[in-house]
Amino acid sequence: MRQRLITFRDGQQVCPLGQGTYQMGRRRTEEIQALRRGIDLGLTLIDTAEMYGTEDLVGEAVRDCRDKAYIVSKVLPGNASYEGTKRACERSLRQLGTEHIDLYLLHWIGHYPFSETVRALVELQHEGKILSWGMSNLDISDMEHILSLPHGKDCTANQVLYNLKDRGMEYDLLPWSETCNIPVMAYTPLGEGRLRNHKALAEVARRHNATPTQIMLSWVMRNPNVIAIPKAGSIAHVEENARSLDISLTEEDLMEIDKAFPAPTRKIPLAGW
Ligand code: NAP
Repeated sequence: MRQRLITFRDGQQVCPLGQGTYQMGRRRTEEIQALRRGIDLGLTLIDTAEMYGTEDLVGEAVRDCRDKAYIVSKVLPGNASYEGTKRACERSLRQLGTEHIDLYLLHWIGHYPFSETVRALVELQHEGKILSWGMSNLDISDMEHILSLPHGKDCTANQVLYNLKDRGMEYDLLPWSETCNIPVMAYTPLGEGRLRNHKALAEVARRHNATPTQIMLSWVMRNPNVIAIPKAGSIAHVEENARSLDISLTEEDLMEIDKAFPAPTRKIPLAGW
């Protein structure tokens, strides 16, 4: 069951389950081991950001397997001027100890014009410092703005909040992204770990001989255009999460989940940062 891959517009393929790193660092050795175990299991997309202070940790985790890892990092909006984006990227490369970042995102919308940031991202791509670029926390109107810019159609991904309780993007952003062939990276797919005790998940999990956490991830990844990036700080959690790739939810499962966590029936502005 593990064959399904997400293909970015540049042809790069990744497993629909990646690994987040926000708030890592407190149990550094264990977290590095967890990330490495994830890579061994095929969870090669690792998400970091200059804001998280985890780029050096990610760099250490992939030191002996850089060619297997697909590193995503992000520039803070406050640094996203033309010059600032280039400087931020150089800093991230140094922190990561790598020659290139696979996918570099604008973390969220700031006060610098998109045109400036995108011009820098395109140049960084031409220089080989990033292999592709994308956005985070952008709703449709801002994504349309990005696509209208010179080279804007090279935008490779949009990373947004998506979990059972935050389903707003299903109404419009998700179908729009599919039409534009822009994969969506779902952040906080476990609701920061707070959703797993919800009783609606227990029955579905029982039917699949799975855990509620695995059901949540399988649910996020049910759409072929969505990548889930849970953060897991231990090998046990990574192994548990990886098994979600083997679960196929049935119509009955999805209906039960919808009853407990209703799908949006109208436009809901994108939540998140
Ligand atoms: P999350 O992945 O929804 O939840 C993380 C929590 O779930 C942690 O407390 C973790 O605990 C726990 N967990 C993971 N696997 C588990 C398992 N199998 N069983 C029980 N608990 C488990 O939340 P998140 O960290 O906010 O989001 C994921 C990633 O998305 C971030 O790390 C970051 O890379 C990215 N992100 C991006 C943005 C953005 O603006 N672009 C915003 C937020 C997050 P342990 O650590 O103990 O495993």
